[in-house]
Formats: sequence, C-alpha cells, structure tokens
Amino acid sequence: MTMLVTNIGELVTWDADRPILHDAAFIVEGGHVAWFGHRRDAPAADTMRDVGGAAVIPGFVDSHTHLVFAGDRSAEFEARMTGAAYAAGGIRTTVAATRAAPDEQLAANVARHLAEMRAQGTTTAEIKSGYGLTVLDEARSLAIAREFTDETTFLGAHVVPEGSDIATYVDLVTGPMLEKCAPYARWIDVFCEDGAFGADEARTVLEAGIAAGLLPRIHANQLGPGPGVQLAVELGAAAADHCTYLSAADVDALAGSDTVAGLLPGVEFSTRQPYPDARRLLDAGVTVSLATDCNPGSSYTSSMPFCIAVAVRDMGMSPREALWSATKGGAVSLRRDDVGHLAVGAKADHAVLNAPSFVHLAYRPGVPLVAAVG
Ligand SMILES: [Zn+2]
Repeated sequence: MTMLVTNIGELVTWDADRPILHDAAFIVEGGHVAWFGHRRDAPAADTMRDVGGAAVIPGFVDSHTHLVFAGDRSAEFEARMTGAAYAAGGIRTTVAATRAAPDEQLAANVARHLAEMRAQGTTTAEIKSGYGLTVLDEARSLAIAREFTDETTFLGAHVVPEGSDIATYVDLVTGPMLEKCAPYARWIDVFCEDGAFGADEARTVLEAGIAAGLLPRIHANQLGPGPGVQLAVELGAAAADHCTYLSAADVDALAGSDTVAGLLPGVEFSTRQPYPDARRLLDAGVTVSLATDCNPGSSYTSSMPFCIAVAVRDMGMSPREALWSATKGGAVSLRRDDVGHLAVGAKADHAVLNAPSFVHLAYRPGVPLVAAVG
C-alpha cells in the first residue's frame, strides 16, 4: 500500500539537498517516506490525501519527559508565582504520590499525557523514571514507560529520597536498582546539581549504567554553574539537558563533542529563571535540541509548539532553528536517524499544520495549529 500526501504548501524534510519545499508532496510506503518532491512530479499511489495547501513538518521528537508520576503540584506553582523560590526538593512531593499510585493509574497518566503531546504534533517521546526512588517503584515506573516507548531512561538518581544518605543511595542506584531497571531502560540519567548529585556521584551513576549496557545522558547546569556538562562530554553522553548556566569552557567542550545541548524552556518559564542562551550555543557550533521536560513540578507543559515559541522569542533562535531542534535535534539527542525528518527512508511521522508555514508555530503562540498527525 502506498499513500500520496499532496498539495502541501510547505514541506519540511530536513533533507540535505531540499530541506524545505513548496507546492510539495510525499509518498508513504510501509510507514516510511518512499518519495518526496514537487507535487506535479508525484508518482501514482494507492490512496491520496490532499492537505489543501497546509504546511507539513516532521513529527516532534520530545527527547526529555518525566511522564510516570501521580499527583498535582499546582499549589507549589502558585506559591512560586507568588514569590516562593524553586528548590529541587519539591520532587519528593511527587515521589510520595507516585509510590502510592497503582500501576493502572500511572499507566493511565502516561497515556493521557502522550495523547496530549500527540495532539500537539509529538510523535516520539522519551520517558524517564525518577519518582519511585525504590527498587520496586523505579522498576515498575520503567516497565510502564516501556509499554509506550523504546526511549526509556532510568533516573533513579533524580534526588536522594527522604530517610537516606547520598552514599547509601548511590550504592542502591548503582547496585540492586540498576539491576532491576536496566532490562526496561535504554538510557541512564542523573540530576547533577547542588541539592541533588555532585560530580563524583553523577560519574559513579553514569559509569555503572554504561557498564550495564545503558547509554548516558544527564541533567546538567540547570540551577547554577556546575560540573555536569564537562562530565557529559567526557563520558560521551548523547545529551546534556538544561544547559542554563554555562561557562565558556562548557560551550567549547560541547562544540567539540557529539553531546547535544538539550534546552528545556518550559522549565525557565515555570520557575521564572533566566532562559538558556541558545544563540551562544548555535554560534559556537553546538547541536541543540528542544524538549518539554514535561513533569508536574518545574515544567508542566506537554507542548513542543510552546517551547518553539519561547525559544524564538526569548532564546535567540530563528523559527527554522527552533523547528530543527524540536524535530531533528531531538532525534540526534536520542541517537535516532529514523525520526525527526522526512527524507526518503525516514519514518513518515509528520504533523499537518493549520497554517501555510511552519513559522506560524512561533508567530502564533498558544494557538492549536496541529490539524492532524500521521
Ligand atoms: Zn528533567
């Protein structure tokens, strides 16, 4: 079966030779792009879909989410917006609610948030554990996440749980917890930050994960300058996410590496922190991704279009750079070459916009512009 999607006003493929086409079409066969080009050159297909001049973009790749959780922290958000400071320890509120929730409730929450994301154009999402913080609760969080995505990340080292000390907890995370979680995870992650895990502990966690066959990524330099980015580069991590406070040496290290700088503007929006300087990273030649960091504490948005709008408005990105970072950049962050673009051979995951151009994603902030996802 082949399907022709045609009458596309603007088609974003990120193909090396023809990254953006006008008056375009593409053919889907077996879930993959078999052909794209000018619509008058389109070969015959079994079925045809006319999108009426709309823009079509690759589905968003959200490379950083924390969807396995229960509970609500709107009161904490309200307090913060009324003058209280953000502290990493608020995670413990969600941990208590998550531990108390049955599997079915956690799975239903993941499904609900993924549906919300898909309605806004996201077709690939990474999901982290990190609100269980016991062997049992981390393992069941990852087993649930695995039902929905292959991009699962073991984040037992999210915060030290109440009643434990850091050394004992790192032993647990890198020992019995890792053993039970690794079968359900592709990635190992750690929250490297004052109030969470320092450089030595973060290195121990990531190296243990690597030894167990997982690929490293990290939460780094969110609340202040720190060692996380340098550690990510040294260990060859796929991504250093947050990157809000970077030294010149951090930027240089990222530019000379394969580590993607993952920017999460929903966090700075929701915590009233300064935004990361995407322009500085791009000008230095760093590969940048954009993701939601969807979580109930510091960034409760599931919307990649929202992140694009903020990145363009407040982080120095052009609309085209922001779209690339939200699609192909996310794919690079997850070391995937089959998603985040619509060149021949890629998965045909795409979003049809209620707009003639992808620029509307930033030009019309807050407007539901995704008409269909395929
Ligand atoms: Zn995060």
